Amino acid sequence: MSEALPWNDPTFLRDVERRSGASVSACFQCHKCSTGCPVAPEMDVMSSQIMRLIHLGARDEALASQSIWLCASCEACTTRCPQGIDIAAVMDTLRMMAVEAGVTLGDARGNKFNTSFLSSVRRHGRVFEMGLMTAYKLRSGDLLGDVGKVPGMLKRGKLALWPKSSGNAKEVREVFKRADQEEKNR
Ligand code: SF4
Ligand code: SF4
Repeated sequence: MSEALPWNDPTFLRDVERRSGASVSACFQCHKCSTGCPVAPEMDVMSSQIMRLIHLGARDEALASQSIWLCASCEACTTRCPQGIDIAAVMDTLRMMAVEAGVTLGDARGNKFNTSFLSSVRRHGRVFEMGLMTAYKLRSGDLLGDVGKVPGMLKRGKLALWPKSSGNAKEVREVFKRADQEEKNR
């Protein structure tokens, strides 16, 4: 009988499949997801490789990947997968698992942006870009990065100074509450 590899966690595949609802085990490594991913050139581990890490039970390696935080949830991979695997949902699940496991990244900007984005939507029912930027800058400590772009964005009406809540803010808050509850019940 072959010996288990040192990073083999046999529960990882099962956990990811249960939480994401995606049949990761059906992946046959065709790489169509990675070749269609708009963010792949920036990723340290591409989506097809993430699938392989999950097969191998490489929990620590998958959760420590920068890629899960760079993923834009555009679902191009999900659309392209010949096996119908919801890869975007897998990436989302890995982000949640990384947060729960307290994985610390060398470059945690993706995580900090994600937290700031979700807080903004939770609060206003939609994203308030100025608030998002401020929260992200404070979290990341990158106070002056991109600051030169602000005047142009204000001029073109791309940044509002004050939040405008969505008419559906209450419903959005309910969605967040339900998601929190579902997470607790997992
Ligand atoms: S959902 Fe994420 S992994 Fe999939 S194509 Fe989009 S950015 Fe890439
Ligand atoms: S497209 Fe689907 S089957 Fe192909 S590598 Fe990606 S996840 Fe696996």
